[in-house]
This record gives sequence, structure tokens and C-alpha cells, in this order.
Amino acid sequence: MVLENLGNSLKETLKKIARAVFVDDKLVDELIKDLQRALLSSDVNVKLVFELTKSIKERFLKEKQASVTQREHLVKIVYEELVKILGDEKSELVITKKKPYKIMMVGVYGSGKTTTIGKLAKYYSKRGYKVATLGLDVHRPAAPEQLEQICKKINIQSFVNKKEKNALKIYNEFEREYPKYDLLIIDTAGRDSLTQDLIQELKDLNKEIKPDENLLVLSADIGQAVQNLAKGFHEACNVTGVIISKLDGTGKGGGALTGASTTNAKIKFIGVGEKVDDLETFNPKSFVSRLLGMGDLEALLEKARDAISEEKAQDLQEKLLKGEFTLLDLYEQMKAMKKMGPLSKIMEMVPGMGQLKMPKEMLEVQEGKLEKWGIIIKSMTKKELEDPEILSQGNRINRIAKGAGVDPSDVRDLLKQYKQSKKLMKMMKGGDPSKLMKQFKGKMPKGFKF
Ligand code: GDP
Ligand code: MG
Repeated sequence: MVLENLGNSLKETLKKIARAVFVDDKLVDELIKDLQRALLSSDVNVKLVFELTKSIKERFLKEKQASVTQREHLVKIVYEELVKILGDEKSELVITKKKPYKIMMVGVYGSGKTTTIGKLAKYYSKRGYKVATLGLDVHRPAAPEQLEQICKKINIQSFVNKKEKNALKIYNEFEREYPKYDLLIIDTAGRDSLTQDLIQELKDLNKEIKPDENLLVLSADIGQAVQNLAKGFHEACNVTGVIISKLDGTGKGGGALTGASTTNAKIKFIGVGEKVDDLETFNPKSFVSRLLGMGDLEALLEKARDAISEEKAQDLQEKLLKGEFTLLDLYEQMKAMKKMGPLSKIMEMVPGMGQLKMPKEMLEVQEGKLEKWGIIIKSMTKKELEDPEILSQGNRINRIAKGAGVDPSDVRDLLKQYKQSKKLMKMMKGGDPSKLMKQFKGKMPKGFKF
């Protein structure tokens, strides 16, 4: 998979939103930090990362009242902003009827120009265009040979001259042939970096050949160098489109993908392997969807929506803040969480709770227990539910146990869980996980560490 690391960290980040019980400013802040970390470590330009995250936060605050649930809305904002930095709309090469339509490939040495020419030639000949290639890389000794071989394999005509060292002369040499083709793809020389003589050479070729497209090939491992490089090529020969090669490799990709915009030209294709078929058209929307695992994410959001409605969560939050968390709320919440997976997983998603490694037994409400608690709760009066403290009076626990057909110890168990949860909620409300840690210290099993 292309950009696996970035994809994985983005997916994890968004799953956090999907699973979060409350979507609040704290969650958004955490999301932003995660996003920044993921994007920066995949080489996306710092300024761009900060602009992106700033606009996510601003949009979230401004669009809070939107009718869709907040959770989905937040995911949507992240998706849209990522799509935006990758160029927003899909931008396809339009090959006109002009004969031939000329595409000149530019880029530094080793960026993947010659390989990509083979891929493009196959791509367009498969779509009915009559394609030829022209080898104007006069600096690398094996360059014409490489182009020739690649083209031979796919039955494409290549025009090369292995002896001539003047690119323009080669271009002129085959001039009579070109009108026989719909598409002429021209290979050029690169250097280790964008040097003055490379710039001059490209300027000369550009002036004489007048290509319809100048496609800049950028390798995914280019990193931050992309900014100057793209700008330099653009100044030399007006870049009209970008191809990112080697996105299948270990390169972090973020630099090349986002830096392409320096040229004002859109990414047209991506190279995802060494073989001639390893070429994909670039569509920012589907690229981001795939990167974020939107399919999985949508399923998760659906589940979350099912489990706990936004109003219910809001309601619960208000109750918590007012200290009005009742047994019924506990039960509702546990039911909701049960639907979303083990409590321990959910706790990881609550802002600030991720760092707390609580013992499993404390977080996992067993299926059987939950069922029993449901019956117990139904056997309680409204007054008892709202104020479980009164249960310690008289014989109420025994009465409820009898009514529910359970052991009195089950009722006590539920009350214990309620008290613990209430305590937990109070501390979560305070937003200070260190307080929580202190609270639990000493009560933990031997050898347990925070
Ligand atoms: P040029 O100097 O710009 O013409 O670069 P080449 O086309 O000769 O490619 C340089 C190296 O990168 C070759 O070994 C190619 O096989 C490799 N390469 C090009 N594109 C890709 C790609 O999309 N994925 C991978 N993995 N390798 C690529
Ligand atoms: Mg080459």
C-alpha cells in the first residue's frame, strides 16, 4: 500500500474520533496534535501542516451547529482539508487532436522519467492513441538504450540516436516522423540537482520543441528539497503537470505530494512500482479516502451512531458536569460502550485517558454482569435509581435482589461499579489524569505500573 505509515497513523487518529464518547475541544486539540505529528513525519512542509490544522480547528468551531453529528462532521472536515492540500479536484491530461501532442518529461537524474515514459506510453496506447517516444537524454551513456528497450517491450516506436550529443539535433533528425503519431513523449536529461546548465538546456528545448505539456517527475523520497526544485523547474520550462514516482517505496511521500503545488500544476499520475503497469491516475479525493481507510471509518462511524446518539452523549455530559450521574445513566453508558467494543478500548479514545493503563478487570464489564444489572435496575424504584445512596437504608438491597432474582452481592456489585464510575467521571471532568493515577495507585494489583 502506498504511504503505509502515514495512512496508518491517520487511520488511527480518525478512529479515535469515531470512537470518542464526546466530541469536544479537547478531542479536537488531540486530533490536531496527532495530525501534525503524522504529517510532519511524512515530510509535509511545516507551514502547510500548521495551515491545515489551523483551518481544521477553525472550521470545527465555526461549523459546530451542522446537522450531521459532530463526530462525522469532524472526520469530514479532516478529509476535505487533506484533499484540498493535494489539489482538490482530479486533473486529467487532455490529449488534443493535434498531431503529435507533445509531452516533455523533466526532472532530476533518477527521479523516474524514463521509466514513467514507458508507463505513459503503454497507458495511452491502450486507450487508442498512437504513441512514439523520443530520447533526448544525451548525458547518460545508457539512456537511449534504456528507452529503446522499455519501448520495445511494449511495442512502442522510440526515436533515439546513441551517438549524437546535441539534443536539439536529435529532435530535428526525426521531425518528419512525428506527425504520424497522436502522442510524442520526450525524454530529457537530468542532473543530480537542478544546475544552471540543466536549466539552460531545458529552456532551449522548451523554446524549440514547444511541448504541449511539460511534466515534472518527482520521486516520493525527495522530502523538503521539493520546494526549490519544483520552483526551479517551473521557472525553466513552465511545468504543466506533475507525476510522483516511487510512491510504493520507503519514501515518505508527503513532501513530493504537497510540494507539487509550488508549480501551480496538478499531480496527474503516481508511479507505484518499477513495472510498466505501475501507474495510476491521481485523484485527490480517492487518494485521501484510501489513505484514511474511509470505508472502515464509515462503518465505525455508523456503529458509533448506533451506540450512542449525540444528544444522549450531550445529555450525559451535562449530567456529569452537574454531578447528576445516576445508575440509569451508568447502565445506558455501559450498554452503549458495549456496542462499541471493550471498555478498555473506549477509554483509550477518551481525551487524556489514553495514557492511563488501567487493569483489564476494572474496565471490562462482562456480558453476564451487564444483563444482570439491567434486571436489577428494572427492579429499582425511580427514587432509588436517581439517588442510590438511599439503598444503604433498611433492607432495600435484599428486596431488590429478591425482585430481580439475583444475589444481594450482585446488587452491591452494581453499586460499587456506580460509585467507582462516578468518582472516575468527576476526575475526568477535572481533566487531570495525574489525579486519577494517584487515586488508583495503591489499589492496583502488584507489579502494576502507570
Ligand atoms: P530517470 O533518471 O529520471 O530517467 O529515472 P529512471 O526512469 O531511470 O528511474 C530510476 C530508478 O527508479 C530505476 O531503477 C527505476 O526502476 C526506478 N523507478 C522509477 N519509477 C519507479 C516507481 O514508481 N517505483 C519504484 N519502486 N521504482 C521506480
Ligand atoms: Mg532517464
